Amino acid sequence: MDSFQTGYQSALHVMPGVEGGHDGLPSQNKATSGHGTPDIQRRQLTTKDYLEGILSGDRTRLARAITLIESNASSHFAQSQEVLKSILSKTGGSVRIGITGVPGAGKSTFIEAFGSHLTALGKKVAVLAVDPSSTVTGGSILGDKTRMERLATNPLAFIRPSPSGGTLGGVARKTRETLLIFEAAGYDVVLVETVGVGQSETTVRSMVDFFLLVLVPGAGDELQGIKKGVVELADAILINKADGSNIIAAQTARAEYERALHYLQPATEGWQTIALTASAMTGEGVPEVWDNIQSFVGSTRTSGAFSRRRQIQERDWVRAIVEGHLREQFYADEEIQRLLPGLDREVMNGEIPATTAAQVLLEAYGAGRGAR
Ligand code: GDP
Repeated sequence: MDSFQTGYQSALHVMPGVEGGHDGLPSQNKATSGHGTPDIQRRQLTTKDYLEGILSGDRTRLARAITLIESNASSHFAQSQEVLKSILSKTGGSVRIGITGVPGAGKSTFIEAFGSHLTALGKKVAVLAVDPSSTVTGGSILGDKTRMERLATNPLAFIRPSPSGGTLGGVARKTRETLLIFEAAGYDVVLVETVGVGQSETTVRSMVDFFLLVLVPGAGDELQGIKKGVVELADAILINKADGSNIIAAQTARAEYERALHYLQPATEGWQTIALTASAMTGEGVPEVWDNIQSFVGSTRTSGAFSRRRQIQERDWVRAIVEGHLREQFYADEEIQRLLPGLDREVMNGEIPATTAAQVLLEAYGAGRGAR
């Protein structure tokens, strides 16, 4: 388990561990404050403390549990897995919704309006993000909760920015595990936001029940960087900014998408992907998005597609973790590191076929493992 854990951590390219300090998790010897009195806020929590805090909806302990999951310190990894194991039977109860769209499409404005609509219905809403930019630069396209000011102060809502650093796979793992924490804490709806560029849509699709693509009228598909593949991930396309002088353009875009959708593969078995219009700014059309999601949940639950997808997602998640681990182990192997530059050069110069180079590497790796 130890070697797996170490490998698993490194497979995700996580950044060096953080001891106590800024991640809010005290190391053992920092359990008391400078005055020698126990510091309740910063005291080391037991797994039971986390469990009770999460189940009772205690926001402070909820936040600490997420920080534990997001921590890159290997000492925190074991406990985060214990916490997850302890809450597992209480998870699965939320509707998991992914939201994507290019920067400026109005995702955060929509989440603010949509989240406020849900909380007005008495629902608890969590907002998470998978921000691919944060995995590369540590910077963020999605920004933080200041973009959703109203929702951020709503006691029924909890907004958590994207964990930063590490690979997309690492960020995805943290987001998935955080999602489970929110479910155990009784959140009815979990929104996972991502930017509509690159790999992150597929990653988010793999952890949600319903996937919403936010578009704006007037911009051609090319301009929005929207590929057919992304449209095929969506259960609904929302043409946002359908207000003022944009209304006609939004309705035209909606009708066009609706026509096109009939020729595309639906994302979910038994559900015809829909096209809607809304204005996140005025709130017009926002309740209808929720109504449609409820229809989706109702019909896919009845058909069994809902639980089938979740089962497959769980299975694929295990595979993804294993694959990441193996890849990391492979490239960290000394013999592979020794052989790789030369083989790369030969392949790039057209001296040997790619398949031969791959075979040499795999055999060297296999021989190395046999010798160990
Ligand atoms: P994000 O990058 O996708 O999260 O987009 P934002 O929510 O930050 O919105 C980008 C810009 O579009 C902001 O200036 C918003 O005020 C504006 N915006 C968002 N939704 C609407 C809408 O429904 N109507 C109009 N007119 N503007 C909107």
